[in-house]
Amino acid sequence: MAPCRFRVEENGAGVDKEVINKFDNKDKRIGGTCVYEGLFYGRPGLLERLANGGTLVVAEGYIFEFERRGYLQAGAYVPEVILEHPEIVRQVYEEFVHAGSDVVLALTYYTHREKLRTIGREGDLEAMNRVALQMAREEQIELAVELGADYIVGETFCCYGESMMALRCIQKYGNVPAVITLSLGTGDLMLDGVKVKDTVLALEAAGAAVVGFNCGRGPETMLPFIQDIKPLCKVPFAALPVCYRTTPEQPCFQSLTVPGTNNRAFPLDLCACQTSRQQIDEFAHACRKLGVQYVGLCCGNSAHLTRIVAEVYERTPPASKYTPDMSQHYMFGDKSRFRKEFTEGLRASKGGDFD
Ligand SMILES: [Zn+2]
Repeated sequence: MAPCRFRVEENGAGVDKEVINKFDNKDKRIGGTCVYEGLFYGRPGLLERLANGGTLVVAEGYIFEFERRGYLQAGAYVPEVILEHPEIVRQVYEEFVHAGSDVVLALTYYTHREKLRTIGREGDLEAMNRVALQMAREEQIELAVELGADYIVGETFCCYGESMMALRCIQKYGNVPAVITLSLGTGDLMLDGVKVKDTVLALEAAGAAVVGFNCGRGPETMLPFIQDIKPLCKVPFAALPVCYRTTPEQPCFQSLTVPGTNNRAFPLDLCACQTSRQQIDEFAHACRKLGVQYVGLCCGNSAHLTRIVAEVYERTPPASKYTPDMSQHYMFGDKSRFRKEFTEGLRASKGGDFD
């Protein structure tokens, strides 16, 4: 196996050898994603990895995670944290690998010129995102490949046309495999009126290496689309839902309301609609059963949820050392090990069914 290549950003936002070597993940790869593209470094490459039913666990959802941590402003959602606190970016990369992500997607989401202009930081484009060095997408892709990208991610597409354009650009300028994932709306149509199913099949026919869905919908409402469309695809399928409790009535996380109110939850109060660990576990099992090979979590993701997906997909990441063990808990574990007032008295006083 050829050694992985590592990228160290001038601004310190890149992943360095330390992050990867720390976990002895010689086959981990470094990547980057933005609105349209991502990078993926190292060997074996994407296609080898997914050959013969191989799988890939992919942690995403950086933007919301940094906002939650207090390093990114909700609204424009531009990841200024890259320049202002690169050490935190590195820490989250590290956390996701530690929790079982097979890849590190570099934080380049929303670091394109249009977004930077929104907050008057257009001048920081180069420093914030070397991949976005040039405004044109094509030039970004060429640079990505020059830097050693192994595959490119085009994600969160709401339009058929845009997704096809991205695929063609990757093919024309990238000459590397393309992962193209769509962001589903409330119905079965893309924004430009093309059916989701037809879009996925067209992307596959046009040569995408992996097709599927990311963002937009949570586990419960993304799953029916996976069940319907995945069996029609010959190439590996991708599923990366948001970690929010979307429902048939409110199928997209943008449409969620805070439980018990009519207030829209998106984006600031989505924490009131976070998925349970159980839901993520069930989703990962369902995906595995359906043969989803490229699996992960988008907005709302954090390390404890990524670990669940990784473990369902038979990974044992370093974080598995801390996988919950309720037999050690004073209210749930072996009663003989704890004082009676804790095991029985406290259970009675707190209410609910603990058995
Ligand atoms: Zn997302």
